[in-house]
Amino acid sequence: MSTGSATGPLTFTPVEEIPNIRENLRSTFKTGKTRPLAWRRQQLRQLALMMQENRDALADSLWRDLHKPKEEVFIAEIGAVMARALESAEKLEEWAKPESLVGQVEDWQKDWNPRTHHQPKGTVLVIAPWNYPIILTLQPFMGAVAAGCCAVIKPSELAPTYAALLADLLPKYLDPSCFQVVNAEIEGTTKLLELQWDHIVYTGNGKIGRVVASAAAKHLTPVTLELGGKSPVIIDPASDLRLAAKRTLYGKYNNAGQICVAPDYVLIPTNKQDEFVGHLKEIYEEFFPDEGRSLSSESFGHIVNETHYKRVKALLDATNGDVVIGGRSQPPKGIELTVINNVQAGDSLMEEEIFGPLLPIVPVDDLEAAIQFVNDRDHPLILYLFTQNDKVKDYVLDNTTSGGLCINDTFQQLSVNMPFGGVGESGYGRQVLRYGFESCSNARAYVDVPKEAEQMLGVRYLPYNEQSRAV
Ligand code: NAD
Repeated sequence: MSTGSATGPLTFTPVEEIPNIRENLRSTFKTGKTRPLAWRRQQLRQLALMMQENRDALADSLWRDLHKPKEEVFIAEIGAVMARALESAEKLEEWAKPESLVGQVEDWQKDWNPRTHHQPKGTVLVIAPWNYPIILTLQPFMGAVAAGCCAVIKPSELAPTYAALLADLLPKYLDPSCFQVVNAEIEGTTKLLELQWDHIVYTGNGKIGRVVASAAAKHLTPVTLELGGKSPVIIDPASDLRLAAKRTLYGKYNNAGQICVAPDYVLIPTNKQDEFVGHLKEIYEEFFPDEGRSLSSESFGHIVNETHYKRVKALLDATNGDVVIGGRSQPPKGIELTVINNVQAGDSLMEEEIFGPLLPIVPVDDLEAAIQFVNDRDHPLILYLFTQNDKVKDYVLDNTTSGGLCINDTFQQLSVNMPFGGVGESGYGRQVLRYGFESCSNARAYVDVPKEAEQMLGVRYLPYNEQSRAV
C-alpha cells in the first residue's frame, strides 16, 4: 500500500510490506493487464492529468523542500513531465511497432520475416534523488509505463513533502495494482534492493550507484545508472564571452547549482580570464538587482539540508582561489551564488562534484590544456563548450568523452529529445522518451523459418559429407 498524504509528514512504508508490494505487482504483470497499448496510453495521459490538476500543490511541495521558485518547477519539472507523458502516449504506437530486419539479412533469408518486438521487461524499480524530485521520479517511471511494465517509485526522503504528496496522488490517477510508491530510508531501500526486479533505474550519487549495481548483479538485473560528476565548461577564445558568461551563470543559479548537469567549473585561457570575470560580474548584477542579492532572493533556491550546506561551505572555506562574486552564507541552508577566480587543479573546489552554487574559474594556457585537464579526470555527464569556431567544435567532440556535449549554451541539451545518460563514473544506460521506453523493453529478436528454406539448410544435417565440407 502507498503511504503519505498531501499535507502530512512523510510516512515510511513498513519494511515488512515491501516484499508483498513487489509480489502483487509481479502478479498483476503476469495477468497481461499492462500490455495493451491503449491501456498504457491511458495511464500516461493520467500522469499528465495528475501534473495538470495538482500543479500548485506540487510546486508548493518543492518550495517547502528546496525553496525552489515556482517558475523553475513549472518549466523544468511539471511542464516537462506533462509534455513528455503526452508525447509518449502519442508516439507509443510508433515506438512499439516491430522493427523489420529484412534489410540486414541475406537475400535467401528475407522471407523469414526477421524483426524485433519490444516486450515489457516486467516490474521496474525507480530510485530517485531529491534535487529534481518530480522529473527524476516520473521520467524514468513513464519509460516503464510506456514499455508496459509495472513499477515501484522510491522517491528521496530528502524531499519529504513531495515524496508524501506523490504517494498520495499516484493511486488516485494511475492503476495502483500496477504502480506503487514506496517511501523509505536506507533500511527500506535496502529491502527493495534485496528483491528481484526486471530493471532498475537509479539516479543519484556514484557511491550509492555502486550499492545498487552490486545488489542488482545478484539477480542479473539490468540497471540504468544516472549519476553525476564534475561537468566542465570550456571557453574558447573564439566565443562570445559575454553570452558565454550569461549562459554559464544561468546554468549555475538554477536550483542553487544542485543539478547533475550544472556547469561545475570553467576552463578559460589565462588571457581571457579578466574579461570573462568582468562579464560575470555585470550579469550577476542583472540577475540579482536587489540589495539582498542571491542569498535572500525569492528567485534563488536553498541548499537542501544542513549536511549538504556544511559540505558545500567547507569546500568554499578551504579554497585558495579568489572570491570575486558572492561568497556569503547563512546557516542552515543559504549559500550565495559565488564565483571563485584563479582556482588551481589541486584546490578543494576541484576534489568532488560541487552540487551547490559555487563556480570555480580555472585558468589554462590554451584549448589543448583545457582538453588535457578534462581527459585527466573522470568522464563527465555533460561537457559544455563555448566557441564560434567549427574546427574547435569538431576537435573537442573527437578528443573528449562525456555523456553529452552541449555547445554554446547550458542545459539546452535537456530541451531536445535526445538520449540522456552518462559514461564511466557519470553512469550508464540512456533514457528520456523513446530511450526510456527501450530501457524497460526487451528487444526480442524474431524469425519464422519457412519449410522451403530446407533446400538451403539441408547441408547442415548429419552425416557430414563432401558437400557439407565444401560450404
Ligand atoms: P539522495 O541522497 O536523495 O540519494 C538518491 C537515492 O538513493 C534516494 O532515493 C536515497 O533514498 C537512496 N539511497 C541513499 N542511501 C542509500 C543506500 N545506502 N542504499 C540504497 N539507497 C540509498 O540523492 P543524492 O545521491 O545526493 O543525489 C545527488 C547526486 O545525484 C549528484 O551526484 C547528482 O549529480 C546525481 N544526479 C544525477 C542525475 C542524472 O540524471 N544523471 C540527476 C540528478 C542527480
